[in-house]
Amino acid sequence: MAEQEYITLFAEVLLPLPVKGYFTYRVPQELNGLVAPGMRVVVQFGQKKFYTALIRRIHNQPPKTMSVKYLLAAIDPWPVVNEKQFALWEWMAEYYLCTVGEVMNAALPSAYKLASETRVVMDPEFVKDGDLLSDREFMVVEALEIQKILTLTDISRIVGMTKVIPLIKTMIEKGIVRVEEEITERYKPRTETCIRLTEAYRSEALLNAGMDRLNKRAYKQLQALMAYISMSRCFTDHPLEISRPELLKTPDISAAQLDGLIKKGILETYSRNVSRLNHDEASDSSRNIVFSDAQKQVLAELKSLLKGTGIALLKGVTSSGKTEVYIHLIEEVIGSGKQVLYLLPEIALTTQIIRRLQKYFGNKVGVYHSKYNEFERIEIWNKANIPLSDNQQHQPYQVLLGARSALFLPYTDLGLVIVDEEHDSSYKQNDPAPRYNARDAATVLGHIHQCPVLMGSATPSVESFFNAVSGKYGLVNLNERFGSLQMPEIRIVNIREEARMKRMKSHFSPQLLDAIKQALSAGEQVILFQNRRGFSLRLECDTCHHIPECINCDVTLTYHKQVNVMKCHYCGYTTRVPDICPECHSPAVKMRGFGTEKVEEELSILFPDAVIGRMDLDTTRTKNAYQRIIGDFESGKIDVLVGTQMVTKGLDFDNVSLVGVLYADGMMSYPDFRALERSYQLMAQVSGRAGRRYKRGLVMIQTNNPKHPLLQWVVDDNYDAMFEQQLSDRYKYKYPPYYRLIEVSLRHRDYELLNKAASALAGMLKPVFGGLMLGPEYPLVSRIRNLYIKNLMLKTGKGLQGKQHKAELARQLEIFKALPDYKSVRIIIDVDPV
Ligand code: ADP
Ligand code: ZN
Ligand code: ZN
Repeated sequence: MAEQEYITLFAEVLLPLPVKGYFTYRVPQELNGLVAPGMRVVVQFGQKKFYTALIRRIHNQPPKTMSVKYLLAAIDPWPVVNEKQFALWEWMAEYYLCTVGEVMNAALPSAYKLASETRVVMDPEFVKDGDLLSDREFMVVEALEIQKILTLTDISRIVGMTKVIPLIKTMIEKGIVRVEEEITERYKPRTETCIRLTEAYRSEALLNAGMDRLNKRAYKQLQALMAYISMSRCFTDHPLEISRPELLKTPDISAAQLDGLIKKGILETYSRNVSRLNHDEASDSSRNIVFSDAQKQVLAELKSLLKGTGIALLKGVTSSGKTEVYIHLIEEVIGSGKQVLYLLPEIALTTQIIRRLQKYFGNKVGVYHSKYNEFERIEIWNKANIPLSDNQQHQPYQVLLGARSALFLPYTDLGLVIVDEEHDSSYKQNDPAPRYNARDAATVLGHIHQCPVLMGSATPSVESFFNAVSGKYGLVNLNERFGSLQMPEIRIVNIREEARMKRMKSHFSPQLLDAIKQALSAGEQVILFQNRRGFSLRLECDTCHHIPECINCDVTLTYHKQVNVMKCHYCGYTTRVPDICPECHSPAVKMRGFGTEKVEEELSILFPDAVIGRMDLDTTRTKNAYQRIIGDFESGKIDVLVGTQMVTKGLDFDNVSLVGVLYADGMMSYPDFRALERSYQLMAQVSGRAGRRYKRGLVMIQTNNPKHPLLQWVVDDNYDAMFEQQLSDRYKYKYPPYYRLIEVSLRHRDYELLNKAASALAGMLKPVFGGLMLGPEYPLVSRIRNLYIKNLMLKTGKGLQGKQHKAELARQLEIFKALPDYKSVRIIIDVDPV
């Protein structure tokens, strides 16, 4: 140590910004020995801006550049990011052609990245107590009482000090301030009003005195109080928390008596977060699984495939017991002291699955979810980390259940990564960079931790199944539903024919209506799948065929009945519905196409006694709304659930006997090379919701094109036929899994400039990619938020050739970005777009 004081050290740091590479700062001598890789420090970057940076390396080689700034302050006493995380970030930046800073930005919770422009607010739970605040903290609190939101730049002006990041970090830890949430609709844990004895009456002696008084004047209240005491067992070793509604259910206690006791200061109310996780309503809470022979076979195969660093794909039909298999494997891994990461698509992360895991693993499970607020996320972040020092004392989570961003938690010792519903396209982050696919990144994470990776799906992606049949991944099949539950019967309904015979009632064939009627009269539930949200796809003038479009984007507006407006699904632009055509002033404006909201409305006319629920992006903006709809459907409050693909995601409803697909053609004809694969997956997944426990389910698929081979494959549950056909097409047209795609998207306000730029870049890339470059072309939606868009699609081989292509692309883009004419053109690179 003594020696170190005289050495000049330099730190290479990473900034959470889209800038390339690491930046070198000089370590002030008083920080020698106090800084290490993975710790956060404060640095100045650019004019007067302060950032939280992460130290990547420390060395004593003076950089060649003339002036090197000093690190301004150290934030952490120990590293917050470990080597394995850096390894994942660096892989991601290289593979997805973005900067490590962008990955850092996605990976770290906001409160870990304080910077000049970070906005802070008062913590809503903070109670001001002047004595406990330092002078500077007091100044910040006073300022926030007046201004509500302050940036760190504001704060440094207020407290008269430039390096405010450490100050704010401490204030966050003390629960005084919070980083302003980017998400406006925060996840709020549901709270419940509970009852307890007030402090003064928590000793038996005092309580007895109080009871004596009650005995004389308020006998009823005394009875109520005794009932509370016996229910809550508050004087035993195992007291229980009692909610107000629970208490009022007992015959001895009325609301008046309860309020009387509260007024007398004997009882008090407090609110408790009802962690959804602890709600264990399942009756069979003790795990008592006897695996079937098929399941045993699967487990044995998986165990041998998952030795070391194996990757396996479990293809198992819905309800075959995949989740039970995961649970068994998780048990074994955590038994050996290692951690398990269990990834699910965001939307499938419902109470159902959380509760199920919680039931087996209790508080060893942590859940990481984009709708959790910053605070909850930091807590889970910290608890994902196995303590490295004595200062970090906590019980770490051993099972982390989360959506794609859970990849970034600070695992130290993963023993298994599970990617459930691996075919789901929401594993891909489309915007902003890093545009990563969590399924693919999971295999790299497994490699970094030298642990196995298990992917599971009833309908694997063509890419993963290809990897499995070509031997890159192990493949295990589980073809039977558990408990001899039958696969549903699938019927195709020819709606072209029904329409010709004039038998359609709006969007419903008589066959489907009959089936709905039968299900409802048997007290069973129905799911109807329609791939579009909104009331009607669009408005169209019958006279001049004008279709109202967004003023910022090149898309038609969608009518939303509930709020009676037309809305752009790309930018949110909203306008009122015209009574007459804005072009020709004809009053004949009509609805065309149909979405979930329209279906919901028509159904309520056709089945006035049924309760209809709807689940789509519009009805599930908040996490609570989503859970509420599922809860209402589960508990039978909703008879028919109409929804977009959300209804296909891994939910188990025991009482659903009928699933209807209203219009299969829409998705099958979508102009995308994955359209048929997706349609197959959607139809197979939504069919899996039919007939779970008691009887064989029925699925009805309405189509204009009943002879389409894909529909036959869905009926026959013939994934292999779909796969073979897709493979031959993809080979012929050079698509994944044979080639990788890279989309280069150019955007600019100026149409002419954009065209010139796109041709120029195409000219530079042509010699590299030759026939493997498509475009430049306008995409389906060629203007969004007033930016015109032109895309190049590049195809690269796999392996070395792919790597060389990518490196060359990166080089050409550097050159292009430096061209003065095109500096203002935005370029977005998407590797493996979905
Ligand atoms: P999947 O994940 O493939 O859809 P699940 O694991 O959810 O299938 O299994 C479907 C249902 O069958 C669940 O209720 C599950 O608890 C039950 N189940 C599966 N295997 C068994 C078993 N061996 N013993 C008892 N119940 C089982
Ligand atoms: Zn018109
Ligand atoms: Zn728009």
